[in-house]
Formats: sequence, structure tokens, C-alpha cells
Amino acid sequence: MSRIARRWYFNARPKATIEGDTLVLREEPLPALREGDILVRTLYLSLDATNRVWISDWDIYMEPVHVGEPMRGFVVGEVVQSRNPAFAPGTLVAGLHTWSDYFVTDAQGFQSFARVAGLPLADTFGILTVAGPTAHYGLLSVGQPKPGDTVVVTAAAGAVGSLVGQLAKLKGCRAVGIAGSREKCRWLTDELGFDAAVNYRAEPVLECLRRCCPNGIDVHFENVGGEALDAGLTLMNNFGRVVVCGLISTYNSTGTAAPGPYMFRNVIMRRLTVRGFVILDHLDEYPRMTAELAQWMLEGKLRYRLHIVDGLENAAEALNLLYTGGNEGKLMVRIGAER
Ligand code: NDP
Repeated sequence: MSRIARRWYFNARPKATIEGDTLVLREEPLPALREGDILVRTLYLSLDATNRVWISDWDIYMEPVHVGEPMRGFVVGEVVQSRNPAFAPGTLVAGLHTWSDYFVTDAQGFQSFARVAGLPLADTFGILTVAGPTAHYGLLSVGQPKPGDTVVVTAAAGAVGSLVGQLAKLKGCRAVGIAGSREKCRWLTDELGFDAAVNYRAEPVLECLRRCCPNGIDVHFENVGGEALDAGLTLMNNFGRVVVCGLISTYNSTGTAAPGPYMFRNVIMRRLTVRGFVILDHLDEYPRMTAELAQWMLEGKLRYRLHIVDGLENAAEALNLLYTGGNEGKLMVRIGAER
């Protein structure tokens, strides 16, 4: 008898945030394994802000998820059956696949997932799959911070942002974060070593950022877009770098693009370099970046929070936490128990 799997499908394009009928969970029989296939039991699913972009009607950086298709995400799981000599049963594998508890794949795009001695699987997967390399590449390769620079990061208490500020400190910079609650700001300054943090929900962002950056801004790492980006552009120093990593405040908008930034003229006035990037273009740099990140994690130089939601059935609702600020750290779903 074939095994029944549960899998989320993209059912209807949302008008804004994920709605009740945007994604639907279905049960379906798994196909028999063909030569080269593996059957995987999913352990963790990474929920990423870009998941909402994949189901938008925008022209994006990769093939979107079309209505009617299974929802896609980064997963780590355990091979339970194999007709592929490269993946014995028991091997941990990671890759981009469907939001499912079990799935059969020809293993294209899948790699063995290397545990890091001394780190739990959830930490290694949660931080080293997307968030860590994004912070590393975005800040160090794109932002090019120099000791003494002031680095500002938005969504600073999130998975990427919290790492960006700590990497800035490791490189001898002043780190200033912008985040959406007093508790998140307190975590940044009191526990992660940020020099200052602005609560954008409670304080006038431009005024506070000006106070927190008395020598201006050299690197602005943007995760959000909107008011904070304009505040950053306003305070940039000559020849500063603006790293455009994400624009999460716009991901739930449909149709016409959100207006702004209004301080775009400072790209000329301050001779700025503004550069966007997509981490998937830099997979060749993963071995170097993840080795460095893992070392800093083990040494306690990079700290982080994991926000783990239990149960595949809760994945769709959990995704909205990213757009409300309800997540505290790297958002992921525990789908199967580790053995
Ligand atoms: P986070 O853990 O940072 O969670 C998202 C956070 O964004 C929320 O907690 C919330 O924090 C903040 N936020 C959401 N909506 C708004 C809004 N309207 N205004 C202000 N803040 C908002 O998620 P990630 O670390 O996974 O992602 C952070 C950013 O990095 C995203 O923009 C994402 O697209 C981008 N990214 C880009 C990659 C690339 O290759 N370019 C790869 C991976 C991520 P708060 O409580 O502070 O409001």
C-alpha cells in the first residue's frame, strides 16, 4: 500500500496577507520510487519572507509558484527509502522542495546536509541555509564595511537583520538596528551588542536614527523598505553603500509597486553605491561562508533566536508572522521528530 503524505498547495492568490484559502493542505498517495529516487521524511521547513513573493503576480527572480502547484520552501529531512546510490537511508538531505511531511524526489538539487558538531540540527539548518549566508554575503561582500563605519540594518531583530548587526560588530563597526518593539530593541542592545536600536513603531525614525548615528551612515542594510529606507538614505555619508536585501513592507501589496524611496536623490548627492542581491546566485560561496558562520556560532560570537512552530498543518498561518512582526528570530516549522 502506498504511503499517504500531507502537502500544502497554492490555491488562490491572496489580496494582501496569506488568507484562509490561499494555501490548502491536502492528503495524497506518494508515488512508487523509480531508479534514482529517494523518499524523504521532512524534519524542518524554513519559512522565508520571499515565500510570499513566490505566490505574487510580480515578475520575480526565479520561477514563481503557480496557482494549483505545491507550495515551495527550503527543507531538511531524512531519507527513509532510496533507489539512489548517493543517498543511503538515514542520510540527512536539504534542498528546495514542497511543504510536505513526506515526498519523493529524483534528488536533483538535493545535497547531503552536514551536521555541525556542537550545534543542534535546527540551529544549523535555520541559520546556515538562508539567513546566515544572506547576512554574510550582503554585509561583508556587498556592504564592504570598514572598521569604524556605522552600519544600520532594518528588521534588525529578525533572522537576517540580527546577524547583520553582529557581523558588523565583529568587523569593528558601530551597529544600529531598527525594529518593531521595545522588547526586540532591548534584545539587540542588551544581548546582541548593537550600539543602538530604534523602535519604528513608537519613535520618529528619522529623528531617532539621526541621534543614533552622529557620524552619519556608511552602510545601510535594507530588509524592509519605506520610511526606514528613506531615513537611511537621508543620513548616508559620501560614498556609502546601500545593500538592498529585502523590501518586506511591500510583499503583501498587489498590482502597482509601492511608491518611494523619496530620498533617491541622495544616490547622487552622496555618491552612493546601491546594490541588490539574491543569495541563491552565490551558492558557490556557501562553503566558505557557512564555515565562518558556524565557527562564530560555536564560539558564541553570533547569537540568534529560533522561532519554531510545531506541525505542518500550522505552516500557512505561521508564514504571516513574518509580515506582522510576530516572529522572534528565524521562523521555521518542525514537521517530523528528529531521531
Ligand atoms: P525576519 O526574521 O527578519 O522577519 C521579518 C521581519 O520583518 C518581521 O519580524 C518584522 O520585524 C519585519 N517587518 C515585516 N513587515 C514589516 C513592515 N511592514 N515594516 C517594518 N518591518 C516589517 O525575516 P528574514 O530574516 O527571513 O528576512 C528579512 C529580509 O531579508 C526580508 O526582506 C527578506 O525578503 C530578505 N531576504 C533576502 C534574501 C536575498 O537573497 N536577497 C534572502 C533571505 C532574506 P519587526 O517586528 O521589527 O517589524
